[in-house]
Amino acid sequence: MVVVGAGMAGVQTAVALREQGYTGTVTLIGAEPHQPYDRPPLSKAVLLGTAEGSAFDVDFESLGIELRLGCEALGVRPADHELDTEAGPVPYDVLVLATGAQPIRLPGTEGVPGVHLLRTLDDAERLRPVLAAQHRIVVVGAGWIGAEFATAAREAGCEVTVVEAADRPLAGALPAEVAARMTAWYADSGAELRTGARVERVEPGLVELADGTRLAADAVVVGIGARPATGWLAGSGIELGADGEVVADAHLRTSAADVYAVGDCASFPSARYGARLLVHHWDNALQGPRTVAANVLGELPVTYDPVPYFWSEQFGRFVQYAGHHAGADRTVWRGDPASPAWTVCWLREDRLVALLAVGRPRDLAQGRRLIESGRRMDPAALPDPARPLKDA
Ligand code: FAD
Repeated sequence: MVVVGAGMAGVQTAVALREQGYTGTVTLIGAEPHQPYDRPPLSKAVLLGTAEGSAFDVDFESLGIELRLGCEALGVRPADHELDTEAGPVPYDVLVLATGAQPIRLPGTEGVPGVHLLRTLDDAERLRPVLAAQHRIVVVGAGWIGAEFATAAREAGCEVTVVEAADRPLAGALPAEVAARMTAWYADSGAELRTGARVERVEPGLVELADGTRLAADAVVVGIGARPATGWLAGSGIELGADGEVVADAHLRTSAADVYAVGDCASFPSARYGARLLVHHWDNALQGPRTVAANVLGELPVTYDPVPYFWSEQFGRFVQYAGHHAGADRTVWRGDPASPAWTVCWLREDRLVALLAVGRPRDLAQGRRLIESGRRMDPAALPDPARPLKDA
């Protein structure tokens, strides 16, 4: 068994193989030199220096997992069952692709001093002193990463301006009426949010917007999304999708025999939502590997069709989302969205398909189970936040 990519999905795949009884060799190959680590703390405690690191608490040696770190995979030859790496070819019986995603760069900023991304431990370590120095920071992109970074930077006492091309934060992730409720969070924290603002030019110390506005910036942090890290698979014959992701089937198998894909680098068909999903969240990198291990080892194929889940900690709020709201025919609010705690539910034919809970973890837990069950709800009972979420 060879697993490429030593992030959450790769590590969990190796661990799940052992948990499910696999006794053969497991080799985990990762490009980064660091002991495998978790990413969510990078925009939270690690950035603020309240945690030193976020290495996974996994004893690879005692599990008999061979780690090859600082070793980049360069290509796959499925017909030969061989992976090509910087350190030479590695033969496999079964290969799992778990190379995650890479942040999208802002055109024209490569090599410009003071421009940062936030994906890796090295990125977070470079940003730590920037926060500690209480610099003036311009954040490009009001998505999940931009919001979390702005939160940490405000907490550290930095002056923060967030520049967003769309007319609201999280424009790619949430419907306008929901995302609009989050706009005020920026100002409440003391960050300035400039929506409808396009970056024209970045030079050391300065960000110039398309309308001519010039923003002084000791540092610029770009958080405009991520793309599957699959460039290295070009020419392998393994099918890639429109977003560059590995196209996996319902059992997380790729188009090549004995090659699976999991985590941020792969999309899979969801019968539950009638759509192909490309999920860039932690829970998917935790759940998918168990299915891969079961399918590698078991006789009967196991289908992967989860209710996607993620959380975000921003501006003092705990935001949680479960499901997939595209295709919903009704939106129901629970609680006042101007208050610290509220939930929005999406229904389709009276069945809960997704919910977003702000400071209401119980709604999230109950809602997630209801989405999984697919049972009908009583929409009339939903708006009262004092009543538990339950089926009709
Ligand atoms: P990755 O974590 O990207 O791991 C892939 C690994 O593969 C990397 O180490 C990479 O170096 C390696 N690799 C890539 N190419 C090669 C190659 N050719 N050869 C060898 N190795 C290679 N999700 C949430 O739900 N909630 C959160 O609060 C949250 N916070 C986040 C904060 C930050 C700063 C970031 C960056 C992400 C956050 N996420 C969060 C998302 C979550 O961390 C990811 O979904 C998860 O890390 C995906 O795991 P993965 O293993 O698929 O990919």
